[in-house]
Amino acid sequence: MKPANSVLSAYGTTIFEVMSRLAAQHGAVNLGQGFPEGLEPADVVEAAARALRDGPHQYPSMWGVPALRQAVAAHAARFHGLDIDWETEVMVTSGATEALADCLFGLIEPGDEVVLIEPLYDSYLPIVRRAGGVAKLVRLEPPLWDLPREALAAAFSDRTKLLILNSPMNPTGKVFDEGELAFIAGLLEKHDSYAVCDEVYEHIVYDGRRHIPLMTLPGMRKRCARIGSAGKTFSLTGWKIGYVTACPELLAPIAKAHQFLTFTTPPNLQAAVALGLGKGFDYYNGLIATLAERRDRLAVGLRALGFGVGACQGTYFLTADFSRLEPSLDDSAFCRWLTERAGVATVPVSAFYQGGDVDRFVRFCFAKSEAALDEALVRLGRHFGPS
Ligand code: PMP
Ligand code: GLN
Repeated sequence: MKPANSVLSAYGTTIFEVMSRLAAQHGAVNLGQGFPEGLEPADVVEAAARALRDGPHQYPSMWGVPALRQAVAAHAARFHGLDIDWETEVMVTSGATEALADCLFGLIEPGDEVVLIEPLYDSYLPIVRRAGGVAKLVRLEPPLWDLPREALAAAFSDRTKLLILNSPMNPTGKVFDEGELAFIAGLLEKHDSYAVCDEVYEHIVYDGRRHIPLMTLPGMRKRCARIGSAGKTFSLTGWKIGYVTACPELLAPIAKAHQFLTFTTPPNLQAAVALGLGKGFDYYNGLIATLAERRDRLAVGLRALGFGVGACQGTYFLTADFSRLEPSLDDSAFCRWLTERAGVATVPVSAFYQGGDVDRFVRFCFAKSEAALDEALVRLGRHFGPS
């Protein structure tokens, strides 16, 4: 048999699938893969049910149904003061994953350099490479995840086509502040580059912090493609509804990729997400309050057991240093061991790097029921608690 594509064939199964499968196999509490439990807004689910019953059921426009594109534009104005034309600057995709692929396939020309910040979400690099991009990696290091400005500046050149920026950032929980964003904006201007902004956790930011889209900084409106996901904003990860916002000149090539990858997305779910995006501030504030409580509940429990728990400014992930508890295992071995022996699944942070020595941190997802978090802590306590 002739070989398949060598770039994609070089990758194994994604760590999220691997850990969820292992969790199911061992009856473990799954704090690994990032999907929420019990947080789905009932009115959005009801709207989808109605739309499924009533139709339409045929291909909507490849740009998305007007109601959702209008809702995405109105949401950007309400939360970020952005003036977006829903007809020419918003496109609906089948999840943020597709939106990312559309941006990368639509913008990268073989040989273009692409700056990526590790730890990075697992779909970025394979798609950059498949699109012919040359990756320039910059590392953030635990536990503080500070932006190494010199290294970032050194990764840029006049061949840089774009940077992928994930803020709030999975798995670090870092929310890039205004100073960091201004520094990044300066580099994009200097090297005439774009930014693909993965902002799927834009509404999951804690302790009075604010998520600032890079697109809102001076000069950035025309350089940024901003990606959102109903999976995160409405805790509906299985629906795979995402959206990209960019100026018409940037969105047009991105739409070319979309039309040949998925072309369109289920209209019924789009209609329901449109309703969701219009929900009042009480919904968005309630989501943050609920998740902040769960974050603190898990963090307190893990610290009491001896984990070194890092800060979490945004997202629903906590990273924890386990080296005081199991100094002899690396993070992948620890995750496997913890799932099989303690019945708690997590994700190794090294899976978000291409190499290097970050191998004693695991990521816990805390967007789970209180009962699941408590059960996980009880199980961990059996292994690591006072005997
Ligand atoms: N980007 C990041 C940083 C994520 O954590 C996720 C996770 N789900 C995605 C993109 C993909 O989102 P979607 O499920 O909408 O494709
Ligand atoms: N984004 C989720 C996570 O980080 C999972 C996405 C996936 O399973 N592909 O866990």
